[in-house]
Amino acid sequence: MTVPALDVRSVDPALRNAWDLPVGSARHVDSRRIEALARLGISTIGDLLRHYPFRYLDLTATMPIRDVPLGSEATVVGHVRDIRLKKPRPRLSIVEIAIADDSGVVVGVWFNQPYMAKRFSVDDRIAMAGRMEMDFGLRQMRSPFVERMDAAETPEELGRVLPVYRATEGLSTNWLRRLIADALLDFGAVPDPIPSAIRVRRGLAPYWWAVGAIHFPRQLRDVDEARRRLAYEEHLLLQTAVAVRRHRIVDLQPGYAHCATGTHVAALRASLPFTLTADQSTAISEVLADMQAPSPMNRMVLGDVGTGKTVVAAFALALTADSGTQAAMMAPTEVLAHQYATSMGPLLDAAGVTWALLTGSTSQQRRREILKKVSSGEISVLLGTHALIQQDVSFKRLTLAVVDEQHRFGVQQRLRLRSKGPAVDLLVMTATPIPRSLALTHYGDLDTSFLRTRPANRPPDHVRTVIVPHARRAEAYETVRNAVRQGRQAYVVCALVEEGDSPEARAANREAERLQSRVFPDLRVGLLTGKMRPGDKQRVMALFREGAIDVLVATTVIEVGIDVPNATVMIVENGERYGLAQLHQLRGRIGRGEHPGLFLVFADPKTDEGRQRMEAIARTDDGFALAEEDLRLRGEGEILGSRQSGLPQLHIASLVDDEDLLLAARADARELVSVDPDLVCAQNAPLGHEVRAILADTGSAVSSG
Ligand code: ADP
Ligand code: MG
Repeated sequence: MTVPALDVRSVDPALRNAWDLPVGSARHVDSRRIEALARLGISTIGDLLRHYPFRYLDLTATMPIRDVPLGSEATVVGHVRDIRLKKPRPRLSIVEIAIADDSGVVVGVWFNQPYMAKRFSVDDRIAMAGRMEMDFGLRQMRSPFVERMDAAETPEELGRVLPVYRATEGLSTNWLRRLIADALLDFGAVPDPIPSAIRVRRGLAPYWWAVGAIHFPRQLRDVDEARRRLAYEEHLLLQTAVAVRRHRIVDLQPGYAHCATGTHVAALRASLPFTLTADQSTAISEVLADMQAPSPMNRMVLGDVGTGKTVVAAFALALTADSGTQAAMMAPTEVLAHQYATSMGPLLDAAGVTWALLTGSTSQQRRREILKKVSSGEISVLLGTHALIQQDVSFKRLTLAVVDEQHRFGVQQRLRLRSKGPAVDLLVMTATPIPRSLALTHYGDLDTSFLRTRPANRPPDHVRTVIVPHARRAEAYETVRNAVRQGRQAYVVCALVEEGDSPEARAANREAERLQSRVFPDLRVGLLTGKMRPGDKQRVMALFREGAIDVLVATTVIEVGIDVPNATVMIVENGERYGLAQLHQLRGRIGRGEHPGLFLVFADPKTDEGRQRMEAIARTDDGFALAEEDLRLRGEGEILGSRQSGLPQLHIASLVDDEDLLLAARADARELVSVDPDLVCAQNAPLGHEVRAILADTGSAVSSG
């Protein structure tokens, strides 16, 4: 393809922000259509132009029906001759639509889509695309893709590629085609948000060409070229937004240069009962180097459960003690915060670092005592929950905030903790292995340290995973009984605490009773749910840790941070309801000691995606591989749950398939922002306009141009 250079002077300055105009400014868009468009998430002209086709009908390559070789994909055009709706069985409907051209007849067949019978009438002219097959001597296509051809469409007009859009009630794909065609004519000349130097360097088409070609390609192969360019554009907008965000933190905020001459880091190093893994050593040097630098640290440590993040954090905490300043480490749950006290506490003690634990269940008197010592500087490290970000918690000199399981906190909570000191380094940790592409997009403002390997004391098949069909429940319970007989302990994880949410959900309360009375009358069954009072949770956890409970029935509160090495079996009820990341997290709770673990997932997946998920969890124990798989299976929206990073959805770019584009865009974005941080140079201005809109939406807008 030859890409004509875009003559910037030809762009009407009055159209500069055409993307931002309300969609009502487009031709034919009345109030009824505005409503319909809103249902598609379209409220501006930009949204409309970004409503890209999800597929195309290639009419440049239509064939006479009879000439299409059996078994091959093709598009044919004909008139509807016959429409039938059959109901051979109560829950089966079959729609057959026969179309004919001069050469022959083909029947389109759809199962359980009765509405197809109403879409067309006899004599309509339609195009049908699909695989040509022969059934009982008749040509047919199963679930072909069909489109009505306008009566006015002449044979010449048919010689093109027709875009097909996600449509909605009251707004057909045909109408969208018309609206978008007009919008392209009226508003398609927006200034190119990709600076021309980058466009040329990356060999990308100009905007006006790409937006035209994605909607109305002359030939199907133009679509790839257009898609690549538009996908790069989306990545560049996001990457520039995160680069600006990062610049505002790392380059513009005050930092604190920690001093490494004290004794605490050295004492910690000397007291470690094990040799650090290579990944741990690297992460620790990266963290300590960031902290010693005068600009603020903004780093995330990503490491699967059991990769040893705790000790990495401990080094960071010890460095603040060496500098005579303070650190706070915040966990999303009470249970996890107490876990810190048990796992982190001894490390800090060995390093001679003073610390305290503050949570919602800390007594008033103890709380007052702690707050006093924190504000006087007597306590160096404060571990805890959200309790740490309350108004009256004030530090003498806070220079480090560690946020664990940070995806459970909002950006605002991170900022609240950070704002408790004049210059605070940020270290976030997550045990949710995020695919690299997602990490770079959603946490692009953070530097990353990856812990990929586990300490060598656990062989890779230490925990075996078995998907158990409901019919084999009894066997699974027998396995639990055997494990207990050998002195081990087990978890049974239920999806929901209360009944009624879904009929098949086995409520933990009820399940605990059932297991105790009918399945394990001879064993000690305990219950731990998110709804319990913190004190009660602590008691149950302590009993389980001491071995006074054999089988702990729990909701997913145990997902994070519980460490009971003697627990070797876990049963997960309704496994098909969980995402891969969550199942993997749960699995990380067992086999933490010397004894091998067994992860039993009770599941009856009803969908292909569910079956694939179950297969994946059984196949691999590599958290990052599972995360990639989850992303492929469920898409990015599902992975992060609430879109807490606040970044806009990708319309055309894919985090799974476009990693090369993403990395290119990231490099370009960082370079751009280092040279022109406010994006005000003429060639960067259109990009700056879009990026400022993104940053304003995400609430991180600092007034900058
Ligand atoms: P994470 O927080 O990443 O899930 P932890 O920090 O809780 O992992 O570490 C898991 C277990 O591995 C702990 O019992 C810890 O003492 C141990 N551990 C950590 N690093 C090492 C190492 N390098 N060698 C041996 N054991 C280690
Ligand atoms: Mg941990």
